Amino acid sequence: MNGTLRRMWSYMAKEKGLFLLVIAMIIISSVLSLIGPYLMGLAVDGVLAGWVGRELLLMLIWLILIYFLQSGAVFFQNYWMIGIAQNVVFYMRNQLFSHLQKLPISFFQKRQHGELMSRLTNDMENVSRTLNGAVIQVVTSTLTLIGTIVMMLWLSPLLTVLTLLIVPVLFAGMKWITNRTGTYFKEQQKNLGDMNGYIEETISGQKIIKMYSQEKRVIDEFEIKNEALRTSSYWAQAYSGFIPKLMNMLNNISFTIIVGIGGILALKGAVSIGVIVTFTTYSRQFTRPLNDLANQFNMILSAVAGAERVFQIIDEKAEGKDENEAKTISSLKGDIVFDQVSFSYEEEVATLQQVSFHAPPGKTVALVGPTGAGKTTVISLLSRFYDADEGAIYVDGIDIKSITRQSLRRQMAFVLQDSVLFRTTVRENIRYGKLEAANDEVVEAAKNANAHDFIMKLPDGYDTVLTSEGSDLSQGQRQLLSIARAMLADPSLLILDEATSSIDTITEMKISEALNKLMEGRTTFVIAHRLNTIQHADLILVLKDGKVIEKGTDKELMERKGFYADLVRTQRQKGAV
Ligand code: ADP
Repeated sequence: MNGTLRRMWSYMAKEKGLFLLVIAMIIISSVLSLIGPYLMGLAVDGVLAGWVGRELLLMLIWLILIYFLQSGAVFFQNYWMIGIAQNVVFYMRNQLFSHLQKLPISFFQKRQHGELMSRLTNDMENVSRTLNGAVIQVVTSTLTLIGTIVMMLWLSPLLTVLTLLIVPVLFAGMKWITNRTGTYFKEQQKNLGDMNGYIEETISGQKIIKMYSQEKRVIDEFEIKNEALRTSSYWAQAYSGFIPKLMNMLNNISFTIIVGIGGILALKGAVSIGVIVTFTTYSRQFTRPLNDLANQFNMILSAVAGAERVFQIIDEKAEGKDENEAKTISSLKGDIVFDQVSFSYEEEVATLQQVSFHAPPGKTVALVGPTGAGKTTVISLLSRFYDADEGAIYVDGIDIKSITRQSLRRQMAFVLQDSVLFRTTVRENIRYGKLEAANDEVVEAAKNANAHDFIMKLPDGYDTVLTSEGSDLSQGQRQLLSIARAMLADPSLLILDEATSSIDTITEMKISEALNKLMEGRTTFVIAHRLNTIQHADLILVLKDGKVIEKGTDKELMERKGFYADLVRTQRQKGAV
């Protein structure tokens, strides 16, 4: 907790100028809030001593002036503090978001997206709200508290001791309460993140949920999460709600003591009536900061819990730094060598074992094998989403570890089964392949990809805005768009993940014609599901359990009558070819 607070402070320290102004305003308003009640007491004593109208009027003007100035100081301290809080949160949000972009793919695979979103939104909001209120409150309350005690001691030590009698009771009560609220607040944020994660998952997975009629199970699970959130929020708020009630009660008790005992003292002439008036206000002014501190303590706890969750992500290790001497490459011939590459996701399970092959420039390599054999993993290593545990991968003779990730990935384009489309225009979606491309280039790429015709039939042509999943396009059309995107990117390495589902013959012809054009002159890796499409591949790698068990051309492998030949035969029997 201390670490987190110190870290939050380091963000605020960037706003030193504003912070000094805020502190100055707080000091002014706190001092004025002490003078007010004192003058009030003087006025009462003055009236009792037979003040005339003019003196009373003068005192009234002073009081009005003081309360007016105090409000002004409070206004400005809030105004400037909001500035600080918003700047801090602005900065943290930027930092968190940009850090997210640097994290490795494996990080996102382990997390629920909605839960991450919750940290960016809810937790940030929490931090912001607290900074707005809590900092001022804590400083004001502390100052007022000290000031009030000093003034009270100066006016009447005896009455001060009587007022302070309630403090131990107060502290015991607050400690009891805050012990409980802190835990619940933490739990509440965690449950909120959990629930948001679940909501996000079910919204993006609606199709699957409906397809498998899982609505009821999903609703039940949601109810459990919702219930957990309700319980933790309920207790967090219920306990923190006790605090003002407790304060109020103690306040009234203290008030009674002061008036009662103060009255007796006044009758004996030990104190003046004015002092009692001042004291009653001070005693309220004295418990209020304690109350505020306690309340703020809760808010601070919940903000610290939020900030902790934000810092956790900021502290996540970014995707391995490029080696110091890493080179930027701007073009490639596309000569790929895997040399005895081994890799595992989890320590005990070997995912790839000593995979070796050579893909000469411009050739097509097909990866074949049962699901889970490691085809996708080969591509993930080539794209450096992960790094090989043993062995090395070379492109154009350079170890990929000595090439910057970004420049390596710029040389690659992916046409995947599930083309990722963004909620923007068709034009921008294609332009994702090359952000600086002119409109003509986009159209040219679309024409080459056989996508131009269908795009022109869309309501706004290239300016049609797609939904984020591209669900307003057919699967074939989505593929044509991602081919256009790859065309525009003009990479030297191409990764194709073949569609498994059937697409109508005409679209399929269009796709394969576009793909052939795209593959020309580029080293291409095809993750093949249907074997008839890879007969012309220059090299077929047959993977099984992470090992290359056969490699060669279709002709060579058929003659070998091994695993590949078996696979082809099975598929033919099933009529899949
Ligand atoms: P393929 O593409 O041939 O179907 P993959 O390369 O996707 O196979 O997977 C190879 C093996 O690695 C599988 O057993 C799979 O369960 C495992 N695997 C894939 N991705 C991960 C991951 N992110 N974490 C842990 N294991 C994984």
